[in-house]
Amino acid sequence: MSHSNTRIVIIGGGFGGLFTALDLAGAGEITLINDEDHFLFKPMLYEYLSGEVEAWHIAPDCKELLANQARFIRGVVTEIDLDARTVTLAGRAVSIPYDVLVMAPGAVTNYAGVEGAEQYAMPFRALNDASRLRRRMTEALDQVQPDAAPQDTRSALTFAVVGGGASGVELSTKMGDLLRDAVKRRALQGEPRVLIVEMADRLVPGMGEEIRKYVQGALSACRIEVHTETRIVRVTEHGIALEHNKTHAELQTAAVVWVAGVRVSPLTEKLNLEKDRRGLILVERTLQVRGYPHVFVLGDVAFYPDVVPTLAGTAQLAMQESGLCARNVRAFIEGNQLKTKHFVELGEAVSLGTEQAAVLSAGKVISGPLARQARFAMYTARLPTWHHRLKVGASWFFEGTQPRPLQPLGF
Ligand SMILES: Cc1cc2nc3c(=O)[nH]c(=O)nc-3n(C[C@H](O)[C@H](O)[C@H](O)COP(=O)(O)OP(=O)(O)OC[C@H]3O[C@@H](n4cnc5c(N)ncnc54)[C@H](O)[C@@H]3O)c2cc1C
Repeated sequence: MSHSNTRIVIIGGGFGGLFTALDLAGAGEITLINDEDHFLFKPMLYEYLSGEVEAWHIAPDCKELLANQARFIRGVVTEIDLDARTVTLAGRAVSIPYDVLVMAPGAVTNYAGVEGAEQYAMPFRALNDASRLRRRMTEALDQVQPDAAPQDTRSALTFAVVGGGASGVELSTKMGDLLRDAVKRRALQGEPRVLIVEMADRLVPGMGEEIRKYVQGALSACRIEVHTETRIVRVTEHGIALEHNKTHAELQTAAVVWVAGVRVSPLTEKLNLEKDRRGLILVERTLQVRGYPHVFVLGDVAFYPDVVPTLAGTAQLAMQESGLCARNVRAFIEGNQLKTKHFVELGEAVSLGTEQAAVLSAGKVISGPLARQARFAMYTARLPTWHHRLKVGASWFFEGTQPRPLQPLGF
């Protein structure tokens, strides 16, 4: 078989899979399979919630991005037969054969078995999740009567964010700013109440001390209520049960959003491969799976042995790995030596409400509105393809990135 006929199947159109597919152009017959028709730049999902960005900015169509470089199939992979070298898709009788497989199906929300969480808490990983949450916030606002007493406003607008990592901070500050802005616009009395509930004794444990003080400042400016060392016991249709210091409490909420952790994609759970205790597939420093040299795994489902620990489970890592993966797939096909790499932090950036951010780059932190602009610029550069970057960059530059207020439904 000539190199150009090598069948390369890539599962997952996210940071790992899509960027590998783009880098592999011309290396063989490439097929990218993803369960959505679009890529999603997840680090800006908070800005989609607040209306600072639009869907086309952060969720471009996979087919358009790939142009003619690869075949795109929208579908859910249900089975991988590592011995027969085929993948099976839901609803398709015929399996897809491969010579080289790249797996990057990412992670899913981990509700950790908490009673009612999967049923009633809202996940925050997809465009639809953000749209549903925005709608829920608007519905809650619409319930508040114009002459409601401050305590009634507060009670109707109580939202709990479960998980005090970077996601919990970014999400709660966006929600706090959006809700406070809407309360003001509607001339309501009182304030919304947004809580972060975290089991550990502090928020953002993986974040450097330099940036942490800006996070603390933003949380108090946005009046986010922080409950550390607090465990969610139960989620119900209308609230949560909590435990702190052996004391139990119940709280009525308009919504509970779950950003307290992830687990590997169920697809990888089925595979009989060497894994770590979290189910991450152990890969060589070339990203190949042990015992299956024609299978490469990257992103949120891979345990890569040579990486700064704080990078695990990040887009930064998946993106960096995609470069190595594409290079090694080419080398594998051409019979050349495969490479290894040590992956490092590229800097940290957190959005802190709709007007501010904090960015740590080259050991220096900047914060405030300037950092918000810097974060937009930094992320423009990390969007897939030059063409898309230029379109989005121009849109943000000329049309601005102001949040879209929570208008009454039907407005
Ligand atoms: C809200 C949010 C904010 C984040 N912010 C940051 C940040 O600021 N910085 C950072 O570095 N990281 C951030 N992350 C983490 C980052 O997005 C992930 O680490 C990164 O997306 C992992 O890349 P991946 O390619 O492994 O998976 P993904 O990008 O999740 O892509 C996997 C793709 O595979 C698809 N898929 C899954 N199973 C199947 C199947 N069976 N068949 C077909 N397709 C399938 C998925 O739907 C998805 O499209 C954030 C994550 C979230 C949810």
